[in-house]
Amino acid sequence: MTSADIAEKLHDQAHQSAKNKEERLLPIPGIREVQAGKRLLLAMTTAGIFSLLACAAFYLFEMERLTSRQLAALAHHAGQTIHAADLGWQRMLSVESGARPSEVALSWRITDGQQINRVATLRQANGQSKIRLIPLDNAWLTSGSQPDLRLYLVWRNRVVASSLGEAGAGEASALEPEVIGRIARQGALFVQAPTRWDSQENSPLLVVQQRLSLPFSLSEIALAGLFLWGILAGLIWLTVGIWLNKALLHIQFLAYHDPLTGLINRAALRIGLTHMLAESRRNQTLLAIFYLDLDRFKTINDSLGHAVGDLVLKETGQRLLACVRDTDFVARLGGDEFIVVVGELNDPNDAAAIARKINGSLAEPIILPEHHLQTGCSIGIAIHPGSAIDPDSLIKQGDSAMYAAKQTERGGYHFYDESLGAKVEQHLSLELKMRRAMSEGNFELQYQPVVSNQNGNRLNGFEALIRWPHSDGPIAPAEFIPLAEETGLIVPLGDWVLRQACKQMQAWHEQFDPDNKLSISVNVSVRQLHAGNFPERVAEALAESGLPPSSLILELTESLYIDRHSAIPDALHRLRKMGVRLAMDDFGTGYSALASLSRLPINRLKIDRSFVRNITRIPEELAIARTIIAIGQQLGLEIVAEGVETTEQATLLNDSGCHILQGWLFGRPLATQEISTILDQFQST
Ligand code: C2E
Ligand code: CA
Ligand code: CA
Repeated sequence: MTSADIAEKLHDQAHQSAKNKEERLLPIPGIREVQAGKRLLLAMTTAGIFSLLACAAFYLFEMERLTSRQLAALAHHAGQTIHAADLGWQRMLSVESGARPSEVALSWRITDGQQINRVATLRQANGQSKIRLIPLDNAWLTSGSQPDLRLYLVWRNRVVASSLGEAGAGEASALEPEVIGRIARQGALFVQAPTRWDSQENSPLLVVQQRLSLPFSLSEIALAGLFLWGILAGLIWLTVGIWLNKALLHIQFLAYHDPLTGLINRAALRIGLTHMLAESRRNQTLLAIFYLDLDRFKTINDSLGHAVGDLVLKETGQRLLACVRDTDFVARLGGDEFIVVVGELNDPNDAAAIARKINGSLAEPIILPEHHLQTGCSIGIAIHPGSAIDPDSLIKQGDSAMYAAKQTERGGYHFYDESLGAKVEQHLSLELKMRRAMSEGNFELQYQPVVSNQNGNRLNGFEALIRWPHSDGPIAPAEFIPLAEETGLIVPLGDWVLRQACKQMQAWHEQFDPDNKLSISVNVSVRQLHAGNFPERVAEALAESGLPPSSLILELTESLYIDRHSAIPDALHRLRKMGVRLAMDDFGTGYSALASLSRLPINRLKIDRSFVRNITRIPEELAIARTIIAIGQQLGLEIVAEGVETTEQATLLNDSGCHILQGWLFGRPLATQEISTILDQFQST
């Protein structure tokens, strides 16, 4: 299985688990607010759709009313009712003549204003007005016995002629439907009409109503339309509702979950924790939060790749879920930090028991096709009720306690107590100070002599050690290097150390050591190796200083997590090809030392100070030192003992076969000028 396969599988799993979780939704009480919001949104959409429908209905209704009103107005103008509300006769045309001429062309103005046609002429002859219809469309005008037209001739506010009997009461002559049909066919209509008209106001008006060609009236159609709209709107509403619901669930899931592990995220945790805190106050029970940080996760992620890292995180999430009840929360804060919240505890001891359970569960190796990974975690426990009353401060307390757990032992747990808060503050201010010191160039290097004493003490080289002088007294590397590694500041800082050390060593070569016998050892942090272009950085430092590569020894710590898939061995081989030498520092303190030794191109082993310290007093320690020496010899490596403080230690080591020594016995780390004095003597020997 390649890492791409793993990544793909992971993605699928994450997706699947995300989907499952989505369906189950959150067991967090506070998130109900989101549900309420969702309902509101649905209601709003529904209301929107209905108001749209209402608008459409109103529009249709109004249209009809308008048309009717126009007709009514016209009828009023005519002084007669022209069956304005007769709904089957919707389209209305009215024709007005011009002023006075003896023959007037009448144009039918269709009320929607779209069409103007000359369809009739009005001629005065023999005291009669004669209207001749010019058929627009024969089929239209001559449709059988059921005429599609109603004509009214209006003059001086009276209907003087009409195609309807009742309209023609009085002096107006009635026209039977058959008659109008015939007239239409013949194309002429003679009516008893007034003989004179002399002004615009008095001109005759021809009103034509046309039967709607549809079998239904407009209002019937509008009603049917409304009904259909209702159904359609219902369907739309349903679809939109379902879709919206899904989308909202998804959005809600994304907003409150970590997509990789499917666990809840910080935002959801805060909401849930608020509720749980209130509950714990009400029920007077204890609540504990466990702040977890995986051990060695960064190393695994950096050396084995993100796909494997993701797998570890997912597996961790699953194991954590298995450790707690359904009513408890497991959240991922990001990176390799998790929080478990457990409520309804009777006793802080219960919290300790849970922490042990979690520790035990996460200490189990994670078995992957190509790797067996061992992570473990450090847990900080904060208990409510305590000094923290809100979720944020409780989480912060957990964080401080976790940090304390990391400091004391890996794979352990630590309860929060008030003194821890201050420590975290210190930690933060130290990071700030370190950044400032870097930008202001406040770091310095000291150099500790390394001697070879096979035949008398001869200078072998120096180890460059970083120093941070500070107004409140120097800050020890043991204090700030781990922080620099954690924050990544070690990359630029280590780069500076490397260039500075190379430059200094080359200066000493030129002044005191023309044969380049002396070497300079520089400590390199794993973080620097993971930064990517480390060999190039080294090549640059060498080129810049002119230092021969063989005079540079890079000291790596054996806690370095080396895996077959890591890029580190490759980088180390490239460095070796350049001629740079490599030393395994603090040998004996890590856990994968022997395996790494056979795989990595190491030149030197440095026996850790802790083994040297007691070799004269504790036989077992001497045995370990001797074993390390034997291993080194078998592998053909140079062996260096560090932390040599007494002549007894030096003699014992020398007798055991370790001939390169470093320690206060031969010289403490010293500033550049002091080393120059030593070198002066070195030159003269
Ligand atoms: P290390 O690489 O094991 O460095 C040797 C440490 O032992 C130094 O501590 C040194 O001062 C101390 N030492 C030397 N001889 C004796 C002795 O006889 N007795 C005792 N008790 N101690 C002795 P220091 O300078 O405090 O450095 C501590 C650690 O900080 C180093 O351990 C190294 O891991 C790290 N460090 C120092 N400088 C750098 C650096 O430039 N880069 C990186 N990445 N780490 C550095
Ligand atoms: Ca070292
Ligand atoms: Ca060391």
